[in-house]
Amino acid sequence: MPELPEVETVRRGLAPVMEGETFSSVQIRRKNLRIPFPKDFVSRLLGARILHVKRRSKYLLIETETDVLIWHLGMSGQVRIYKVGDTVAPVGKHDHVQFDLSSGAVVVFTDPRRFGLMDLALREDIAAHRLIKDIGPEPLGNAFSGPILAARLKNRQVSIKQAIMDAHTVAGVGNIYASESLYRAGLSPKRKAYTVQGRRAEKLATAIKNVLNAAIDAGGSTLKDHRTTDGGLGYFQFSFAVYGRAGEACPDCDCDIYSTFGISRLEQGGRSTYYCSRKQR
Ligand SMILES: [Zn+2]
Repeated sequence: MPELPEVETVRRGLAPVMEGETFSSVQIRRKNLRIPFPKDFVSRLLGARILHVKRRSKYLLIETETDVLIWHLGMSGQVRIYKVGDTVAPVGKHDHVQFDLSSGAVVVFTDPRRFGLMDLALREDIAAHRLIKDIGPEPLGNAFSGPILAARLKNRQVSIKQAIMDAHTVAGVGNIYASESLYRAGLSPKRKAYTVQGRRAEKLATAIKNVLNAAIDAGGSTLKDHRTTDGGLGYFQFSFAVYGRAGEACPDCDCDIYSTFGISRLEQGGRSTYYCSRKQR
C-alpha cells in the first residue's frame, strides 16, 4: 500500500510534467475502479488546463481551472510517466487510465487490484468532498505540531499506534510509518493515546515529520531511476529502523538481544506493529 511518502514522490514526479499543460486525450478503459468514474469524467477534463498537482493525505489533487481530479493510488496502483520522446509501452491489461498532455507527455495509471479511484469535484467544493472533508492536519504542514497532536489525542482510549493511523488525528500516517515514528519518539505503541501529551506529543509530532521527510528524500532518487525504466511507484531504498525486523537489534540497541529477543512484533487492529520494548515506553 503506498503511504504518504510514496504518494508525495509520485506528486513530485507528476507536477513538472502536468502543470501548465492541457489534457489532449483522456482514456478510461473501464467504467470503474474502486468506485465508478463520474459520467462526465472525460468531457470535463478534455482540453482543461492543469494549474497545480497537489496532495492531501494520500490523495493526489490535480487542479484545473474549474475542477479538481481526486486520485487515490489504491493498494497496488502504479503511475508511469512518459516524457516527450519516450516510447509508450503497449497498453497492458491493467492500464486503466491514460492521460495525453498537450506537451506530448503521457501519464498511465495501472491498477491491477482496482483499489484506486478517480473522482471529480468543482474547485470550490473540494474542501467539502466526502473523501477529503474529515481528513486531519497534514503532518508536513505548519498546522501540525505537538500541541495540535496532543489536543487530538486527549480523551482517546485507543492505543497511540491506532490513534496516529486514524486519518482524523493526522493525515496519511500508515502502518509502516506509524511504527517508525513511535520508535523515533521512544513511545510504546501500546500506550493509551490520551497519555501522549506535552513533551511526548512534541517528540511524536517531530518524529512523524522527520520520518516522512526522510522517506520522501529517499524516494526522490528512486523516482528518477524508475522514470527511465517504467516510472513505477515502488518502495524506496529507505531502511526501516523497526518495521519488518522482528528479532533483530534496533539501530541503537544497547541490550543483549539474546535475552530480550530484539524487536518485537505485535498485532494491533489487525495490523503488525514492530517496536523495541527497551527503547519504547
Ligand atoms: Zn532496541
